[in-house]
Amino acid sequence: MEKPAVAGGKPVRENKIYYGHQCIDEDDIKAVCDVLRSDAVTCGPKVKELEEKLAGYVGAKYAVSMANGTAALHCACIAAGIGVGDEVITTPLTFAASANCVLYVGAKPVFADVNPETYNIDPDSIIAHITEKTKAVIAVDYTGQCVENERIREICDKYHLVFIEDAAHAIGSAYKGKKVGSLADMTCFSFHPVKTITCGEGGAVTTNNEEYYKKLVLAHSHGITHDEDLMEDAPHEGPWVYEQISLGYNYRLTDFQCALLLSQLNKLEEFKAKRKAIVDKYNEAFKDLPGIIVQKEIPESDTCRHLYIIRLDLNKLKCTRKEFFDAMSAENIQCQVHYVPTYFFPYYKHLGYKEGLCPNAEEIYKGILSIPLYPTLSEKDTDDVISAVKKITEYYLNF
Ligand SMILES: *Cc1c(COP(=O)(O)O)cnc(C)c1O
Repeated sequence: MEKPAVAGGKPVRENKIYYGHQCIDEDDIKAVCDVLRSDAVTCGPKVKELEEKLAGYVGAKYAVSMANGTAALHCACIAAGIGVGDEVITTPLTFAASANCVLYVGAKPVFADVNPETYNIDPDSIIAHITEKTKAVIAVDYTGQCVENERIREICDKYHLVFIEDAAHAIGSAYKGKKVGSLADMTCFSFHPVKTITCGEGGAVTTNNEEYYKKLVLAHSHGITHDEDLMEDAPHEGPWVYEQISLGYNYRLTDFQCALLLSQLNKLEEFKAKRKAIVDKYNEAFKDLPGIIVQKEIPESDTCRHLYIIRLDLNKLKCTRKEFFDAMSAENIQCQVHYVPTYFFPYYKHLGYKEGLCPNAEEIYKGILSIPLYPTLSEKDTDDVISAVKKITEYYLNF
């Protein structure tokens, strides 16, 4: 048996690779520079161009660009009319922003458990947590795999809830042939550099609902409007007049970021194909590997995977996750954990949330590790990751 680097063997590779990396090339850079040389670096034509292209890509009527994915979630909560006294059901196996946005508007996040195999929010657990205060569901397409859109849609219709999809991981994914972004009442995207396409910091909300659209536009730009039809004090003295008609924020995206995103969107299908090829290779390598559990994918989801998670079977492996993580680092492969259940954080504990709320999510969390996945990961890099996982797994199975 080959020894892993932590046990004195030779590392599978010399230079370090990370779990994720952005893909920005020369034509992306040129697109940004062109805007920087133009008249409008913000509030210019690229914003509209991006919003139209994104809406067209996902098959939604409207898209509103946002400063980041968190702002997208915040504005979606505002547009949904969520406020003090309301409850919103979400998952704990996600980035903190999926629940923080509920707190921003004064409402209470309620955590539903996840499916033990797909790791996505369990529709039956959503139903179990509905009360007369429940106003919305924020379902997260964890790792990029679509949530059970059809069932969640049915539940939201039946109980009159707003269906918000946190698709920060899922641009490019589709459910039964329909792109994520066209399915929920509002879908929120993130364009942070670890996500599938990036513009530095950025986000967007897509929707088919005109009312939500109008509210999203106001919320992301100070609640200020230039639209005469929306103004209360018309007629006006002159064309310079605008009115603030609600409380909003400055969550706008700049033109040079929109230019970068437009350029990145052109490559999304190519990124998706590369991510899929790597995921297929990993699935094949790990599906029968004792000690490693592979995330199950539902056939309805055509997944553009953002993260590849291996789950350590800590009953079989004679090591801790930390030891496995350190062994991967010694092979020069830097993993990460996505995510600590949100209500484990001190801030949530101080709000009164307790461990034990979502047993499946907590159990999954104990063993998960994100391994490298990004379009420029080469065949050799992918093979190195597989060799390292196999080498370390065998070592700790027989420890
Ligand atoms: C990244 C992420 C966000 C927040 O997006 P930002 O652009 O970083 O603000 C929200 N939800 C999930 C699931 C994420 O992964």
